[in-house]
Amino acid sequence: MAARRLDGTAWAARLRDEVRPRIEHFRARMGRPPGLAVVLVGHHPPSEIYVRNKIATVTEHGCHGELFRLPETAGVDEALDLVGRLNADERVDAILVQSPLPAAMGHDAEQRVFDAVDPAKDVDGFHPHNVGLLVQKRPALVACTPLGCAELLDREQIPLKGQHAVVIGRSDIVGKPMAMLLLHRDATVTICHSRTRDLAEMCRSADVLVAAIGRPGFVTPAFVKPGATVIDVGINRLEDPAEVARLFADGSPKAQQFARKGSVLVGDVHPDVEAVAGAITPVPGGVGPLTIAMVLRNTVTAAELRAAARG
Ligand code: NAD
Repeated sequence: MAARRLDGTAWAARLRDEVRPRIEHFRARMGRPPGLAVVLVGHHPPSEIYVRNKIATVTEHGCHGELFRLPETAGVDEALDLVGRLNADERVDAILVQSPLPAAMGHDAEQRVFDAVDPAKDVDGFHPHNVGLLVQKRPALVACTPLGCAELLDREQIPLKGQHAVVIGRSDIVGKPMAMLLLHRDATVTICHSRTRDLAEMCRSADVLVAAIGRPGFVTPAFVKPGATVIDVGINRLEDPAEVARLFADGSPKAQQFARKGSVLVGDVHPDVEAVAGAITPVPGGVGPLTIAMVLRNTVTAAELRAAARG
């Protein structure tokens, strides 16, 4: 039987609606909207789309969203200087530095720039202060993608207490915070990564499997216990016909989409997993829209917490 589809688009709309009254209340009380500043460095086509969606979503919901661009050639000092100015700007409640920064900025640039963001404005929850609070189970601002996944699991009432959750991927942005959020819901959590031995076997014992790898169709049915819940975080754009043919049967909707558009978005989970899993998130329309909804919610949370701190 085909897995139940966990509709991220529908839940994201619900989550965004829930934030509206908080935005109205903040505007009435403070005489200004919650403000999000997004920093984009250089030219990275997927980042352009993500940033546009994030700013459109916050502005559509009555917040102020503004994009601050730096050229591809910008040095890390320029990025730090911009972040410093945004930290000092009272109308800015939330700062998002879009990853990845250009490689030419240096291998430690991302960490240095994320560390420079005022933790009270750290909408992505990447600052060590916010990571520490999450680890101690007193979260303030939590990374948007894993937070969106956790919201989905909660609202779909997927059992987690005492269940085995396996997260594939150990990034600071997705894998590690995801594991913490699952642990805090009383799951028994295993984090797998590129050096994990017997990966498929490990994953087959999962009641809940989260794939955050960045490899199209990597998680095949051999990784999945029948009936398990599978959360597909991966977003991969395929432009190679051979790759598309590897994953999708001739004439399938995705193959047709590829024939029309020349590219197609796929997750880290192989399409055949749908026949084995109990519930699964689609790509697109699963984790992506939830991430954007959490950017909106975290912007409002940051604004409220800053206002409360000032009394
Ligand atoms: P990353 O490259 O930082 O981390 C990938 C992780 O996968 C690493 O920890 C690595 O150990 C693991 N990995 C790589 N190869 C592996 C293998 N062969 N076996 C087991 N583990 C392996 O990536 P990330 O930033 O965590 O993102 C992961 C995916 O999620 C990407 O496709 C990214 O585009 C997507 N993503 C989606 C959203 C969203 O909103 N849906 C947000 C962020 C990231």
